[in-house]
Amino acid sequence: MNKRILIITTGGTIAMRETQQSGVVFGESVSHIIDNLPEVHKLADIDIKQFCNIPSPYMTPQKMFELSQFVDEQIQEYDGCIITHGTDTLEETAYMLDLTLRTRKTVVFTAAMRSSTDLGVDGPRNILGAIRTVLSEQSIDKGVLVVMNDEINNARDVTKTNTSNVETFISPGYGYLGIVDIDKVIYVRNNLIKEKIWTDKIEPKVDLIKAVAGMDDRYLNNSLDSGVKGIVIEAFGRGNLPCVMLHSIKRAISMNIPIIMVSRAYQGRVLDIYGYEGGGRSLKNIGVILGSDLRGPKARIKLMVLLGKYKSIDEIREFWA
Ligand code: ASP
Repeated sequence: MNKRILIITTGGTIAMRETQQSGVVFGESVSHIIDNLPEVHKLADIDIKQFCNIPSPYMTPQKMFELSQFVDEQIQEYDGCIITHGTDTLEETAYMLDLTLRTRKTVVFTAAMRSSTDLGVDGPRNILGAIRTVLSEQSIDKGVLVVMNDEINNARDVTKTNTSNVETFISPGYGYLGIVDIDKVIYVRNNLIKEKIWTDKIEPKVDLIKAVAGMDDRYLNNSLDSGVKGIVIEAFGRGNLPCVMLHSIKRAISMNIPIIMVSRAYQGRVLDIYGYEGGGRSLKNIGVILGSDLRGPKARIKLMVLLGKYKSIDEIREFWA
């Protein structure tokens, strides 16, 4: 008996075509793509449901969380699920689901860099790769996966690295988990960090602030004044900031607002190495939480999920070892 796969569509370029007058706009359907892939029906029984139909810059954390709940409800009757999504915010949605999904069945995100009318369109091949990944027994218990360009990455590590190339989703510093080759799906490594935070709600009021040379604390103060509930700072290198930001960081901590520090470098961990004012050690000493090797947008998603469940900074700190 064929396995049953549910494809949930959310929009993105995979559902778009281009005309000269309008540019790239919605006009392609994932069911049309599937109809043109006859081999799919030998592999699995496919149902398609639309969750939303938006360009992914319109995606919000609240919608991502609702998508996670939708997947948990819908997947019960299926062996696995594929989510089609725009590439721009795919990594954030995939990570939201990675953290919050309760199902242990395989969930794979896929997308397209090229619209259906573009030369060398990648959507159909990516959908086929995603289906074959869901069908692989080895995909079980690997967390939420992202399949693009014949490569399988895990949601926690993957990021969009190129604005136009089909080889865009990469896991810097770690590499892909596996590949989808013509004859089979091959895994070459496992992802050992599997984190679950089951919550009934999230707290979307979390800002991400990126450090740049010579910055002061205007952004931080603006965030605090606007009622933010948590802040992620992408600091320099190993996790250091200009000392002029210390005052507002202390202000945030006195207001019980968690500050998570990650690095603006695109790979590696932050650590409390530097003891000068504004260095990682001084920041940790005043209560800043070091965000390990997560990149800023993912750390923001994680903090939203944590703040949906926990209120005290000490409870939240435990999740950033
Ligand atoms: N702007 C598009 C989106 O994220 C890009 C894509 O899907 O590749 O919806």
